Amino acid sequence: MLFRSLGVDYRFGVAATGLHTEGGRVRAVRVDGGEIPAEVVVLAVGHSARAVYEWAVPAGIAVVRKPIAVGVRIEHPQRLIDEIQYGDAAGHPNLPPAFYELTAGAPERGVYSFCMCPGGWIVPASTEPEGVVVNGMSLSRRDSPFANAGLVVSVGVDDFGPLGAGPLAGVGFQRDIERAAFRAGGGRFRAPAQRLGDFLAGRASDSLGASSYRPGLTPADLSAVLPPFVAEALRKGLRQIGARLPAFLLSDALLIAAETRTSAPVRFLRDPVTLVSPSLGGLYPCGEGAGYAGGIVSAALDGARVAERILATA
Ligand SMILES: Cc1cc2nc3c(=O)[nH]c(=O)nc-3n(C[C@H](O)[C@H](O)[C@H](O)COP(=O)(O)OP(=O)(O)OC[C@H]3O[C@@H](n4cnc5c(N)ncnc54)[C@H](O)[C@@H]3O)c2cc1C
Repeated sequence: MLFRSLGVDYRFGVAATGLHTEGGRVRAVRVDGGEIPAEVVVLAVGHSARAVYEWAVPAGIAVVRKPIAVGVRIEHPQRLIDEIQYGDAAGHPNLPPAFYELTAGAPERGVYSFCMCPGGWIVPASTEPEGVVVNGMSLSRRDSPFANAGLVVSVGVDDFGPLGAGPLAGVGFQRDIERAAFRAGGGRFRAPAQRLGDFLAGRASDSLGASSYRPGLTPADLSAVLPPFVAEALRKGLRQIGARLPAFLLSDALLIAAETRTSAPVRFLRDPVTLVSPSLGGLYPCGEGAGYAGGIVSAALDGARVAERILATA
């Protein structure tokens, strides 16, 4: 396996359950059934590592709230997006399935598309048994008949609740939406969904068209799933987008909930030069879960930056 000859030891399926510290420095990573001695630990656990957040904060590791964005996946026929973007050339065999990026809203409450997937699939991304989370992906062929994107509203740290609720209040904010989506979906990871026309008119959908989301959809009123300020901002944002691109407001397009994991709701503090946590020597918060990246490339670059720092101090 890659890098094994350089001494790398891979332990798949082994969860880090805590850190052993002494004298303000990390000494080992706790895992089920023991410890792995370590003078340097890179904490790069991704934005859904709630269990890690939940042991790190009581252990005194410096963590603060970070703004996120939440909302829905919006799904259209790819053919419609091709027609919007390519006009008369839509369907030309030399053109790839079309892509879009949209923004709307006042600066203090942005509404924007996120992770648009041409010819793509909406996929389940839940990490808890009673929460529904959706995400999107395209196969390299980009050959599904659907186009989807996250359509999300920016959420500030004050939206998570009073400061007294602590640095993990954003996790609670996400979880409340995910559980509401689970209930509205009716279980088995079916996702609640609403026709775009019904959402704008403020009425629940009683039926839905076809979708790429394989666990299945349940017609719902997404205003009862999302926090009211999120639903309202989405409505306003969609109307603004529709004023520029009327065809995008296809009444039968689907809004599917909940898109809550756009990035981590926390940031693990680190020194801007050494990249070490101010609360624990030897600990390097890194990547998306620590609040320093959003997406594959920025997470990889942050990993490279941390590795260079560690080598420079070795
Ligand atoms: C369906 C889907 C599609 C996506 N598409 C794109 C895309 O097209 N482009 C893009 O830029 N980004 C995309 N992303 C986002 C991208 O995957 C992340 O931004 C990126 O992987 C973050 O990298 P990371 O290394 O910080 O964390 P991760 O890749 O999440 O890695 C964290 C790792 O830590 C492990 N871990 C967590 N807790 C523990 C623990 N307690 N002990 C040990 N290990 C633990 C996890 O199992 C995981 O392997 C997509 C995400 C999803 C879910």
